[in-house]
Amino acid sequence: MRDKGIEQVVIIGSGPAAWTAAIYAARARLDPLVFEGQPSREMVPGGQLMFTTEVENYPGFRDGVDGQTLMLEMRAQAERFETRIVTEDIVEVETGARPFVLRSSAGDELRANAVIVATGARANWLGLENEQRLAQTGGGVSACAVCDGALPAFRDRVLAVVGGGDSAMEEAIYLTKFAREVVLIHRRDQFRASPILAERALANEKIRVAWNTVVTEVIGDDFITGIRLADTETGQERELEVGGLFVAIGHTPNTAFLEGQLDLGEDGYLITPTPWRTQTSVEGIFAAGDVMDSYYRQAVTAAGTGCMAALEAERWLAHDSDAAPATSIPAEPVAGEV
Ligand code: NAP
Repeated sequence: MRDKGIEQVVIIGSGPAAWTAAIYAARARLDPLVFEGQPSREMVPGGQLMFTTEVENYPGFRDGVDGQTLMLEMRAQAERFETRIVTEDIVEVETGARPFVLRSSAGDELRANAVIVATGARANWLGLENEQRLAQTGGGVSACAVCDGALPAFRDRVLAVVGGGDSAMEEAIYLTKFAREVVLIHRRDQFRASPILAERALANEKIRVAWNTVVTEVIGDDFITGIRLADTETGQERELEVGGLFVAIGHTPNTAFLEGQLDLGEDGYLITPTPWRTQTSVEGIFAAGDVMDSYYRQAVTAAGTGCMAALEAERWLAHDSDAAPATSIPAEPVAGEV
């Protein structure tokens, strides 16, 4: 195991919160080190926005911006201020130690005076046996339409999307580019999605809604061939032939690696005890973005809390920690900092 010395600030994550924190920390001369995460089937560095086609509500882009472009721009902006980036996960944080001890997925151990956790959240699954098997083997079950929807196997097929939130609407609309028909399956008789997205989905001629319906079984050996559905009111079951299933039923915060080290809410989100502060239950460890926000969960709010976390880390390092940095850092933003 290599010892990498003591870092001023380690930022864990690579969504809008992480990159904003990195930009602020780098400009404050804290020489941040970002662990942007390892790519996996469910998540890639850059986080959930890597799976979003058009972002129309991030200020500054009058005509909208592609999610991947936005994330790559944020990453490049952080690099411009010499942020160092490691494409690995942090798998363990010892919050009782000073400096904090962190371990990476590559087996590296490092120490840090301050940590910003911005690991975001990941997609939830229905929990059906064949769902998991086919999702893992590329058998036509996915939690990300934007990642997988354009695959040839889904062309001109009937595709099912489960969920009634904004993600389900976006995924269904996106899939109409390739599918013959998209069946949106929702367990209630009303969408949770914002009116603008719900209206857009309902107005799309290729989208049909199965209200009050749940998926009880995923059918198919090597590739999905159908799903079994149950009506939540009558209990009546039926089979629907589909060529793909896209699950869009919300997310779980990526905090498992922090259990027992930081206070988590019942839903797993990181607790930041003081209103309008990003400090967690442990001084010197800050949280930003979807990992601490189950309410707003927007790119722009994530970026905002990333900024807050970096400013708090900067002030904490300068004034409150035992490990005051070599260079003195002003408590207030420096001239020109916005
Ligand atoms: P969400 O808002 O939590 O919606 C999850 C949906 O899945 C709900 O309709 C829920 O049904 C359903 N669901 C949950 N568990 C289920 C289960 N076991 N079986 C069947 N259905 C289940 O999640 P989201 O759509 O991923 O959105 C998350 C956040 O991101 C929201 O704040 C959203 O506004 C935001 N977002 C914004 C945009 C955008 O602005 N362009 C795009 C995507 C996401 P119930 O309604 O019955 O609970």
